[in-house]
Amino acid sequence: MCSRVASVIVLKSDAELNKLYAANQIVARTLRLLSEKIEPGMTTAALDALAEQTIRAEGAEPAFKGYHGFPSALCISINEQVVHGIPGKRRIKNGDVVSLDVGVLLDGFYGDAALTVPVGDIAPAARKLLRVTEESLYKGIEKAVPGGRLADISAAVQQHVEDHGFSVVRDFVGHGIGRSLHEDPQIPNFYSPAAFNPRLKAGMVLALEPMVNQGTHKVRVLHDGWTAVTQDGKLSAHYEHTVAVTAEGPWILSRLDGR
Ligand code: MG
Repeated sequence: MCSRVASVIVLKSDAELNKLYAANQIVARTLRLLSEKIEPGMTTAALDALAEQTIRAEGAEPAFKGYHGFPSALCISINEQVVHGIPGKRRIKNGDVVSLDVGVLLDGFYGDAALTVPVGDIAPAARKLLRVTEESLYKGIEKAVPGGRLADISAAVQQHVEDHGFSVVRDFVGHGIGRSLHEDPQIPNFYSPAAFNPRLKAGMVLALEPMVNQGTHKVRVLHDGWTAVTQDGKLSAHYEHTVAVTAEGPWILSRLDGR
């Protein structure tokens, strides 16, 4: 995972940030549409088709499709599934919590964001998990400022999650993003004194993505080679934004219409 070896973090120009913003706004609009359309009875394949259609209609390409052989535009991870669930025949049910992760490529630059959608009536404990996970993302984003350290982000996310009795996944981490979907640095959602801990600079673009479990932080990958699930079968949630570090503070490129 993370190492002490110095990595190359590519700083983006203002023109490049604007391109990243355009790509991430397509991600944001796609996630909004999916959140509006998701309902009990719908198959995950139907949601995936809607995502791909929306992305292509915007003139972009679905970034995940074909990435290391991933078959779909969308990662859909339900309940105890953590990340990288593959869309298919499964039907969404009332009470499910459904994590939707979208990536696009537009004009040479990538956008990447995710959220967990409650379907119908979900249990209060599930609602709390979603709230705390989204809050932890924003705790991390607050630390994405010039002069700070990467580990400030990791520690802020972990602190908030553990203060509420949940755990952060160790096996998957956030990442730099730009002309590649995954660039340096890796961004763990937990503090480790051994992790690469560069000072943050204006022009860095970071995809922050806490994956938070109700129970153990431990996960395993199913035989499909992709779907990560919690080892104890309890729920997991995932929120992600692509964020630029700027002199004016964090710029959330994947937030709809906004800074
Ligand atoms: Mg990501």
